[in-house]
Amino acid sequence: MDHSEILAQVRRRNPNEPEFIQAAEEVIASVLPVLAKNPEFAKLKLLERMLEPERLISFRVTWMDDAGNVQVNRGYRVQMNSAIGPYKGGLRFHPSVTPSILKFLAFEQIFKNALTGIPMGGGKGGADFDPKGKSDNEVMRFCHAFMGELARHINHRLDVPAGDIGVGGREIGFLFGAYKKIKNEFTGVLTGKGLGWGGSLIRTEATGYGLIYFAENMLQEKKDSIKGKVCLVSGSGNVAQYAIEKIIQLGGKAVTASDSSGFIYDEAGFNTEKLAFLEDLKNNRRGRIKEYADKYKCSYKDLDPKADQNPLWNIKADCAFPCATQNEVNGKDAGNLVKNGVKLLGEGANMPTTIEGINILLDNGVNYAPGKASNAGGVATSGLEMTQNYMGTSWTREEVDSRLISIMKNIHDVSLAAAKEYGKPGNYMIGANIAGFLKVARAMQAQGVI
Ligand code: NDP
Repeated sequence: MDHSEILAQVRRRNPNEPEFIQAAEEVIASVLPVLAKNPEFAKLKLLERMLEPERLISFRVTWMDDAGNVQVNRGYRVQMNSAIGPYKGGLRFHPSVTPSILKFLAFEQIFKNALTGIPMGGGKGGADFDPKGKSDNEVMRFCHAFMGELARHINHRLDVPAGDIGVGGREIGFLFGAYKKIKNEFTGVLTGKGLGWGGSLIRTEATGYGLIYFAENMLQEKKDSIKGKVCLVSGSGNVAQYAIEKIIQLGGKAVTASDSSGFIYDEAGFNTEKLAFLEDLKNNRRGRIKEYADKYKCSYKDLDPKADQNPLWNIKADCAFPCATQNEVNGKDAGNLVKNGVKLLGEGANMPTTIEGINILLDNGVNYAPGKASNAGGVATSGLEMTQNYMGTSWTREEVDSRLISIMKNIHDVSLAAAKEYGKPGNYMIGANIAGFLKVARAMQAQGVI
């Protein structure tokens, strides 16, 4: 089957799944030269197999809200590929969750996990539940009901979920409590746990820190650094907060942050005090980002989800770090970034840039880091949490951080080397796709036709 036939089959098999098709299209195009060089991979239909989840579980989640009303949500777990290790990938609680979103995330996760060098397969899950506006007790009842079903399908050697959008420390706690009670065992079945009960230091910070370590590696490759760079950041959740923290630590200036309502532009840049305010606002008070603008007297704009461009990406800057959600940088936004002098875009979110956007960035010489490489620090540190749980130990902050730094450097170097080997020097997207694909393909080849 050639490239267009594989893509046509993906489209036929997955109608109404635009996000999954988008993620598939990017990888299929990138790995064509690998298939040409290794005809046995094509014969064994390894790519076609990777495009089909090993298992997709969908289940009803019934719970009661504070007013005594019964609520019904839909939960999922996509067990995408276990060739190199147990399924690993986050849980997303957001009203936009569909099989398409979770399959794209699980598919990306296969290659991302392979790049970390830690033996983890790809998976993802979640529910169309919206934690926004829910009380802690409602979130707890939902998490307990969700785990009531998920517990049948996971364990610490088979499938180890973590957090993602809408699933942070609070939710992981409730989910873990339910799993422990149902299974009557204390194991590392989830990552992102609290530090007093099996969690790893630096896991919370890892995705945002890892993103900026990756960007620093890209800049160092060009004898440059993040010091003094003006950075646009979107989102204000887990990834955005720690990306901003690391930008500050390395001497850069982060000037924006957003939530699903709007974005702030603080020309003076974040400092540690302002960041602490944002963290308290988002993590403890669960408020809207507009409050930041009111407090620090900076600009705030509502975001119009129907608009054809996002004004956050139309600000003069050196670097851009989308850390909110998928497809938040489209072709027009990419054009605006180029026009405003942005020279590097590192994806903190998963697939935040559309294919058109990526092409515009690459055509204009922007140093572009795909999420599956640049945001892999989170899952890598989840892998380190799993290792510590298996060993029954916990490492120091310095130990975990130094492992994270070296993993991100390795992902950077491996992606760059693969891009060069396949005639696309400097193209991190193609390099990451090829390096991740090769590792999984070789494992699948060794394991036979299953
Ligand atoms: P959080 O839930 O902590 O934060 C998400 C942020 O993005 C919030 O500010 C949220 O705003 C905003 N957001 C979410 N959906 C939308 C939307 N549809 N439109 C505009 N803004 C939106 O999630 P994370 O920080 O954990 O995840 C952010 C991204 O990073 C996701 O793409 C995730 O898959 C990816 N990622 C996360 C990892 C992790 O370790 N957590 C690892 C690797 C990737 P609001 O407050 O209004 O909801």
